[in-house]
Amino acid sequence: MTLTTVAAALISIVELPYTYGALEPYISAETMHFHHDKHYAGYVAKLNELITDSRYATLSLEEIVRQSDGAIFNNAAQAWNHVFFFEQFSPNARHHAEGKLERAINMQFGSLEELKKSMVATAVSLFGSGWVWLAADNDGMLYVIAKPNAGTPITDGLHPLIALDVWEHAYYLDYRNMRKDSVADCFKVIDWAKVEERYDAINR
Ligand code: MN
Repeated sequence: MTLTTVAAALISIVELPYTYGALEPYISAETMHFHHDKHYAGYVAKLNELITDSRYATLSLEEIVRQSDGAIFNNAAQAWNHVFFFEQFSPNARHHAEGKLERAINMQFGSLEELKKSMVATAVSLFGSGWVWLAADNDGMLYVIAKPNAGTPITDGLHPLIALDVWEHAYYLDYRNMRKDSVADCFKVIDWAKVEERYDAINR
C-alpha cells in the first residue's frame, strides 16, 4: 500500500467580501477578476512555494511579513496588502468618519476632504509601483505614508487603516494611465465604517 501525502496550501486565498462587479463603475469586474484571481492569488501561490519546508511554514501571514525579507517578504507583504485592500471596500460604503477617527482627522488634516487630497497627491507623486497608506501609531496619531513595491507600515510598528494600491495592475484596465482619477475614485467605495473599526481596534 502506498501512502500519498498531498501538500496543503500553507497560506490560503481569502475570497472577496462582495461580488466581482460590486464596486462598478469605480472598479470593474474585469479588473477585480485579474486583481484578485491572478495578481493576488499569484503572490499567495509564489509565497507558498517559497515557504514550504522553511521556518516560515508554520507562521501566520502577518508574522511572515514581520520576520522575512527578500522574495519571501515581497510575496507575503503583497498577499497581506491585497487582502487588507480588498476588505476596505463596500458597495454600501459609509462615506464619512465618525467618533475618535473623525476627531483625529479633523485635528490633523482639517477635514476628511483634505486627508483624501493628501493621499491622492501622495499616490500621484510615488515613483513607480507601490502603496499609499493611512496608518496610525499606538497613540492614534495618523500618517499618510508612501511605500515602494510591497512596502507596508506594519514593519514600522504602525497600524494600517487604508491601503491605496498604486501598481498599474490595480487601475490600468479601467483608467489607463490616469492614476490620479483611479485613486480618487477608490474613495467612492472605501467604507469608513471599516476604517473606523480598524482605528478603534488599536490598543491605547
Ligand atoms: Mn495590486
